[in-house]
Amino acid sequence: MKAYAFDYVRAATLVEALSLLERAGEGGKLIAGGQSLVPALNLRLLAPQILIDIAQLPELRGITSDDTHIHLGAGTRHAELATSALVGQHVPLLQTAIRHVAHAAIRNRGTLGGNLAHADPASELPACMIALEATMLVVGPKGERRIDAIDFFKGLYETALEADDILVRISIARSPAETRVHFNELARRAGDYAMAGLAMVMHGTQPQGLRIRPVFFGIGDRPTLASHAARCLEQAADPMAGLAAAQQALSQDLSPQEDLQADADTRMQLARVLLKRGLTDLLAQGRG
Ligand SMILES: Cc1cc2nc3c(=O)[nH]c(=O)nc-3n(C[C@H](O)[C@H](O)[C@H](O)COP(=O)(O)OP(=O)(O)OC[C@H]3O[C@@H](n4cnc5c(N)ncnc54)[C@H](O)[C@@H]3O)c2cc1C
Repeated sequence: MKAYAFDYVRAATLVEALSLLERAGEGGKLIAGGQSLVPALNLRLLAPQILIDIAQLPELRGITSDDTHIHLGAGTRHAELATSALVGQHVPLLQTAIRHVAHAAIRNRGTLGGNLAHADPASELPACMIALEATMLVVGPKGERRIDAIDFFKGLYETALEADDILVRISIARSPAETRVHFNELARRAGDYAMAGLAMVMHGTQPQGLRIRPVFFGIGDRPTLASHAARCLEQAADPMAGLAAAQQALSQDLSPQEDLQADADTRMQLARVLLKRGLTDLLAQGRG
């Protein structure tokens, strides 16, 4: 199948892109790397009248850092994230996760902003953003606003973005040296979307006062912070002693779906296995 006919325009600046989007109304659609949008067009799941290309916008480019945060332009390609020294130094979780995103050809064109705006529930980077407590800078006709990652993902392919918004930048606090991170996913083949995955961050060094953020993806309609499970780990005398309770508590945190890849019980079991592997890895990092 091929896409329905559409017009195409490449915006040169953010202001121009916003104005084109406003003028196009409901018929307008942004395109960045096209790695999710073009397959959807070819399957005729979408029929925009005009595509507004934002791949070259200077305002969406660049990876920078200041004293407290690292800032990632929404137009940063996956391959750029994977090789950035700043990302490797300050948010290593992203570089571990990116290796699981699709294949090299897709990582060469796909962008961080497009990935987050697409909000596939099995996608790796949205879960990382919640685990890392990222903030999204969004610009729309009424001006700028900042949205915490935990409030950004609203459901299946649904975000807090309005149709005339553009995601411009993602900011993440630089991790202190003692912060430990873990990423793992279970997929049938390398490069496939995950059946279940976990991005996990642990702040602190002493068993008392640890702050743990396990965020699951591929389970349910959006990436999910397992807050009940986290509390069991944080409140135990030693986190490993809280693992069994945390694994049980996952049934309060997660709503696994059934699909062709796995049924709901299997997904819940995979989540328990991932949590155990994640905690074991994080604690081993502390000993290292
Ligand atoms: C074979 C294959 C395998 C894949 N495997 C994976 C995988 O394992 N994990 C994974 O996460 N992804 C996977 N993907 C999807 C892909 O990696 C990302 O979803 C893709 O990179 C999205 O970025 P893009 O720039 O190509 O977005 P586009 O396809 O250009 O756009 C996606 C959506 O985001 C909107 N959009 C884009 N940029 C912005 C912006 N700045 N502000 C607001 N809205 C915006 C578009 O309007 C569109 O709705 C796979 C894709 C393919 C084709």
